[in-house]
Amino acid sequence: MNSFKLKNTILHAENVALNQIASEFGTPCYVYSKAALTLAFERFSAGFIGTNHLVCFAVKANPSLAILNLFASLGAGFDIVSGGELARVLAAGGDPQKIVFSGVGKTEAEMQAALNAGIFCFNVESASELTRLNKVAAAMGKIAPVSLRVNPNVDAKTHPYISTGLKNNKFGVAYEDALNIYLQAAVMTNIAIHGVDCHIGSQITELSPFLDAFDRVLSLVDALEQQGISIQHIDAGGGIGICYSDETPPEFNVYASAMRAKLGDRNIKLVFEPGRALVGNAGVLLTKVEYLKPTEAKNFAIVDAAMNDLMRPALYDAYHDIKAVQPRDDESHALIYEIVGPVCESGDFLGHDRTLALKEGDLLAIMSAGAYGMSMASNYNTRPRAAEVMVDDDQCHLIRRRELIADLFALENTLPNV
Ligand SMILES: *Cc1c(COP(=O)(O)O)cnc(C)c1O
Repeated sequence: MNSFKLKNTILHAENVALNQIASEFGTPCYVYSKAALTLAFERFSAGFIGTNHLVCFAVKANPSLAILNLFASLGAGFDIVSGGELARVLAAGGDPQKIVFSGVGKTEAEMQAALNAGIFCFNVESASELTRLNKVAAAMGKIAPVSLRVNPNVDAKTHPYISTGLKNNKFGVAYEDALNIYLQAAVMTNIAIHGVDCHIGSQITELSPFLDAFDRVLSLVDALEQQGISIQHIDAGGGIGICYSDETPPEFNVYASAMRAKLGDRNIKLVFEPGRALVGNAGVLLTKVEYLKPTEAKNFAIVDAAMNDLMRPALYDAYHDIKAVQPRDDESHALIYEIVGPVCESGDFLGHDRTLALKEGDLLAIMSAGAYGMSMASNYNTRPRAAEVMVDDDQCHLIRRRELIADLFALENTLPNV
């Protein structure tokens, strides 16, 4: 299902016209579809019906309280990477017993907060972190449930910035060291070994890296069993890609049945941490064409959204489809445009070489912007962050108001005696 479709020549989110959203809430504006979010979560989970499993939405993909609250209501757990994300999940009504805590740099304060909340599991990423967690838990008289994040050294065949399962990156512990660290964990008084964790990267569009990584994890689980360490859950991480242009990522049900087949009859719960796959295609960034600027070399369409709103093109040279909200009939006037923002950086583009028939004032929808869009937005150039709206059938709800200019320097002070 695509929740963003043309109806009567106007692009809609479900049953609300995007030009109506622009006039009510202004631009730039993130627009999410509740139906698309719900369907993505339900489709992902459907593959695991009958298998003991937990789907933990990776909060960093989109930490909106409204989105977290929606997923919590559908039974989701959450994968967090900071104390801030923990607080968000709790504020959104998430169940602490369905939280996994990933990340290479957990502070003592973050460990304490998570132990107090009673989370499901810490995904420990180093031997030093394990030692620290044991100490923090001991001081609180608590037992910390842990998985070790192992680095299976498989090539996820994705952009190097979002590949995390190779030997040479900062995540997890080397596969070869894992057994030893588990043996150390086994004798720590305030650590309880619950699982094995692995996350190999993001925007992965082939099945094989997931299966290769899962094979390695399963061999480790079996080796641990031999040592008398029994594993209650395997966290297979996130990383399933989405279609931005013509990619064909694995279908959820194909992924699910392949993973279930590999698990076999082991009595082990499966945990997943999908982020992008649940939200990426459920959101668009709505923007207005401010100026058309033909130059000798290129035609620029300068829009009111920029790299501070959607960083992926500037950061990873990522592709997002760009659609006119009200496509013009006179396609003969179409030109090839550079779609750029107002920020003072040449890297501030949203799309290269897009064939569109445009006039100043036209609205554009930057597609597939629901993941790592608003969550990576900044105030660069003292630009207020965009409003966020969630559409539910023919209703729209403002889920985050546009920042005011005054919000942007509200925390600052000048020196007393200048
Ligand atoms: C980012 C991240 C995820 C989510 O990745 P997606 O590609 O958005 O599915 C899951 N787990 C961990 C540990 C992550 O860092």
